[in-house]
Amino acid sequence: MSCLFCKIVAGSIPSTAVYQDDLCYAFADIHPRAPVHVLVAPRGHIASLSDADDGHRPLLGHLLWAAAEVARVKGLAKGYRVVINNGDEGGQTVDHIHLHVLGGRPMTWPPG
Ligand code: AMP
Ligand code: ZN
Repeated sequence: MSCLFCKIVAGSIPSTAVYQDDLCYAFADIHPRAPVHVLVAPRGHIASLSDADDGHRPLLGHLLWAAAEVARVKGLAKGYRVVINNGDEGGQTVDHIHLHVLGGRPMTWPPG
């Protein structure tokens, strides 16, 4: 198993858990870009949003729900941003699909 986030999900690389269930694991980003920066990753490996197939549709919905649950757990009542970077030009650096939950400060638009 060479995937970084598969190792984090399996617990062989340490992380700070924020939320977890049978389908996903949410943990603190190691280089936070906001006061709250949490990553939500499925337990099973999917390389990117582009690689998700028809059978992943319920899981994708669950990941979005989990992002909202992370925001509730972290007290982001004033608002937050959920981001998926996809592919090279999308800024994806880890090839295991994940949602960024960013909050705790005002966000700017458009993102860089
Ligand atoms: P992306 O660039 O969208 O693929 O996001 C990858 C994210 O993973 C970045 O925000 C990194 O800071 C984060 N990251 C990389 N290694 C780790 C790690 N060991 N634990 C937690 N977050 C990590
Ligand atoms: Zn993986």
